[in-house]
Amino acid sequence: MALIVQKYGGSSVADAESIKRVAKRIVETKRKGNNVAVVVSAMGDTTDDLIDQAMSIDSNPPAREMDMLMTAGERISMSLLAMAIHAAGERAYSFTGSQAGFMTDARFGAAHIKSVKPERVAHVVHDGKIAIVAGFQGINADGDYTTLGRGGSDTSAVALAVALGADICEIYTDVDGIFTADPRIVPSARRIPSISYDAILEMASCGSKVLALRCVEYAQRFNMPLHVRSSFSHRMGTLVVPEGVDARKLPDLE
Ligand code: ASP
Ligand code: MG
Repeated sequence: MALIVQKYGGSSVADAESIKRVAKRIVETKRKGNNVAVVVSAMGDTTDDLIDQAMSIDSNPPAREMDMLMTAGERISMSLLAMAIHAAGERAYSFTGSQAGFMTDARFGAAHIKSVKPERVAHVVHDGKIAIVAGFQGINADGDYTTLGRGGSDTSAVALAVALGADICEIYTDVDGIFTADPRIVPSARRIPSISYDAILEMASCGSKVLALRCVEYAQRFNMPLHVRSSFSHRMGTLVVPEGVDARKLPDLE
């Protein structure tokens, strides 16, 4: 039985209908005989909206309060997604970053993950239930909530996959993987079926923002295979696999 970590970005869970669609997909993955843990971003533009609200009160808000506010976005999506999975007939439990064991340093707004001890998540997943974890957040040594920086949910997903010993980390987005150029702008852009960590890091340092840089570095350091794919189709996306790993043996590729 494979253990799959799936990460859904804000565009995949932008409204109630999308959350139901994603829930269905998670349930399908589970019913194919896999164990599943999910990391979710805030719905649509929620994080930007929260920042705007803060700025309308104080243009230089206290960093601690800013992170407290920012973590709220992922709490909304994680609990709604857990409800949608329940409604689709499987058992799901949502966890904040701190409940999921994400310890970070104290840099509010740009915290680094120091350790991940996801005991509660592992327990739920090995019991045949689905765990939903809030992306982009953790807790520092003082017990205060922290966030990892914009786009940090990708890193949360890889860190969770590593800590759980998952077979693969799937990063769901609104395009069919990584392309030679942005397919929304350049129609002739081609999907890259498989790519190395180094090549992706190079693309990221050239300004391509398919994946957060830190997420790829983390995956490379711990040899975690990634599958970047669309939550709007069932097509293969882009595989990022360590050297020597046979990509065809990875789970959930169809
Ligand atoms: N919701 C956060 C952001 O918009 C984290 C993420 O999406 O990865 O930056
Ligand atoms: Mg987001």
